[in-house]
Amino acid sequence: MSGTKLAGVIGWPIGHSLSPVLHKFWLEEHEIDGEYVPIALRPEDFSAGVDGLRRAGFTGVNVTTPHKQSAFAFAHAIDNAALRCRAANLLIFAGDGFEARNTDAAGLFESVTEELGTDFVVGEPALILGAGGAARAAILAVDRLGAAEICVFNRTESRARDLAQGIQRTVHAKMRVISPQNLHKTMESAALLVNATSGGMRGRSQLDLDLHALRRDAAVVDLIYNPLQTMLLKNARARGHPCMNGMGMLIHQGADSFDALFGVRPTVTRAVRAKLERVLAS
Ligand code: NAP
Repeated sequence: MSGTKLAGVIGWPIGHSLSPVLHKFWLEEHEIDGEYVPIALRPEDFSAGVDGLRRAGFTGVNVTTPHKQSAFAFAHAIDNAALRCRAANLLIFAGDGFEARNTDAAGLFESVTEELGTDFVVGEPALILGAGGAARAAILAVDRLGAAEICVFNRTESRARDLAQGIQRTVHAKMRVISPQNLHKTMESAALLVNATSGGMRGRSQLDLDLHALRRDAAVVDLIYNPLQTMLLKNARARGHPCMNGMGMLIHQGADSFDALFGVRPTVTRAVRAKLERVLAS
């Protein structure tokens, strides 16, 4: 057991996480002597829990709700993406501390280019719904895709304002905050709509969004993967928009994490996606 590489995912609750299935798939595929375990960690136990995992010899852990901001705040070193997102989804243990990293933005960028292509939003406006950590990651990904303008709309407008102001100096695109009054006008011009809210997640309230004003050729991305088809995606598909859910982002951020945790870059295949979809359906 001594050579076994240990890693995992911390969250509260953690039972819903698909990351153990994803990483176990790749551990088996690459015949790596390793374990990836789900770890339930209460918010107030973050520091002590992470320290315990480091001392126990873990190489690192992925981080999910509600620890993404704590991971950023307690880190001894922070990579550029985590710094720009002000949130981390990966901790790599080194010496007496840990480095906080963010692979969500890169994961979304990679999945969008794979599923929707590379040039559909270049020089165009994009609309992002939400103002949490996922919205920050989405802004970085959409900026990298070449959008000229990134419009942020959030249920609580003040959070959208804080987000847009804070992130403006780190992106090329012009950031704009959208009020309910100018949402329809923005939908008419946006080449890409991203749902980075939790509205529509299984067990949560629905996103209240009327698509009738949405530009006919706009692509629609929902970061949610449970359910695989949200009401937003169902309505967008019915109108003929190119669509994708958050499963690709989950897998690609996982591939970057796996590389950092186990030292092997896995290939994102149909087989791994099918495995996760089967688990979700069961
Ligand atoms: P978060 O920090 O808790 O932010 C949640 C956001 O959703 C806030 O902007 C909130 O608005 C908004 N919201 C919640 N319910 C809503 C509703 N019914 N209608 C409109 N807005 C609503 O969460 P997060 O970490 O950013 O995650 C957001 C989503 O991204 C989740 O669905 C998560 O599953 C998904 N995600 C996916 C991946 C992936 O790999 N595919 C990775 C990360 C996150 P207020 O500010 O007004 O409260």
